Amino acid sequence: MNTFWSESLEKIRERVNDQSFRAWFEPIKPVSLTDSELILSVPDNYFEQWIKDNYLDLIKEISFGSFRKNMKISFVCEEPLKDPGERQEGDPKEGGPEFNETENLIAHYTFENFVSGNSNQFACSASQYVAENPAKGYNPLFIYGGVGLGKTHLLHAIGHGTRRKFRKLKLLYLSSETYVNEVLGAIRMKKMDALRYKYRANCDVFLVDDIQYLSGKEFVQEEFFHTFNFLHGAGKQIVISSDQSPQSIPKISDRLKSRFQWGLITDIAPPEYETRVEIVKKKACAIGVELPDAVVNFIADRILGNVREIEGALNRITAYAKIKMVPISFDLAREVLKKLTNDRTGRVTIDNIIKRVSDYFNIKASDLRCDKRHRSVSVPRQIAMYLARKHTHTSLPVIGENFGGRDHTTVLVAVRKIDEQIKDDPVIERAVKDLERELGV
Ligand code: ADP
Ligand code: MG
Repeated sequence: MNTFWSESLEKIRERVNDQSFRAWFEPIKPVSLTDSELILSVPDNYFEQWIKDNYLDLIKEISFGSFRKNMKISFVCEEPLKDPGERQEGDPKEGGPEFNETENLIAHYTFENFVSGNSNQFACSASQYVAENPAKGYNPLFIYGGVGLGKTHLLHAIGHGTRRKFRKLKLLYLSSETYVNEVLGAIRMKKMDALRYKYRANCDVFLVDDIQYLSGKEFVQEEFFHTFNFLHGAGKQIVISSDQSPQSIPKISDRLKSRFQWGLITDIAPPEYETRVEIVKKKACAIGVELPDAVVNFIADRILGNVREIEGALNRITAYAKIKMVPISFDLAREVLKKLTNDRTGRVTIDNIIKRVSDYFNIKASDLRCDKRHRSVSVPRQIAMYLARKHTHTSLPVIGENFGGRDHTTVLVAVRKIDEQIKDDPVIERAVKDLERELGV
């Protein structure tokens, strides 16, 4: 039996390329051989289907060559893929988020940390339902809404919720941008088989963020369409987010749009005032900051649309108070938010960095450019130098010249200091991240 199979493999090797041989033939193990039937063991159902669709004729032809008659070829799976609902809860051996390294979930994007109100109630409940009952309804779940309204948060929360209840399920979270890059990379490297295997066989809950990136990419849409059909047909849960409704996404094929509408479509609207108040409180609590009610209400009143901007406002206020070493008050909040700008365009230049940093910390741009040494200026200046070093191609001496004629070692010390503080001081870390986001880097 083994000799027959190793001889067959040699013949197969001559007929398929190296990549396919390794992906699809090396994992096969011969199980039994009678005078009319060859039984092969394969890793799982998906693998079996793939072999049947693509290589069954080849295997038949080769066994015909050896036995001079038509052999029946059968398969057994080492680990059949199961319906998610059949999985048992709480197997300690396989529990924990580290179980599947591809999960990639942000730890604090959970349902507990998500504030629900009229604007997102329906999306949140549907997400909770899906997390508790994957592939039992609402499949796919399609969530759409504007930037910063919590779509990514909900997708991750579904991941965490599912993981908590069904420890063995395999989750796959990714943005469509990653998917597009992976498909294009796989085409270039001639590794489509491996990619299909990854998405089809290795996934019980497929969480796809920002599907609008597929717009206009026909080949990638085609690939996604087949993966969608495979997973849906195999009883796997699919959750999709987008910045607009399926009908409105431009340049998406009709058949894909129609798939998106098979399950439940739900939108998220900008949060109303009461929800914004709750969000500010929750975020402040999460970063360990106590805010007077007047400040909470002021932020909720001032920042209307986007939850990411609420977080940004809170971070600014916290950073400013820390650097000035004063308590957070209504007046301070008002002063900081006065300069909040929604303009996020512009190239990353030192001038641009200086403008952003001075706005963020509510100080004058000229203070960053001079040699004032007060803490309220020196920390923002160090942050600006750090950003200039990291995101522009400017040399240390030139950066120094832009910040009050400092020499290159001073710049280097500043860069290293902020590098360290990012690790140790969450206020500095958040300020740098906010600024990088505003600079578009
Ligand atoms: P989107 O994917 O819709 O652009 P995100 O999910 O990335 O938005 O949300 C942006 C930020 O706002 C995240 O930090 C997220 O935790 C937070 N956020 C959004 N909506 C809520 C909410 N309802 N409750 C708590 N945090 C929220
Ligand atoms: Mg998102």
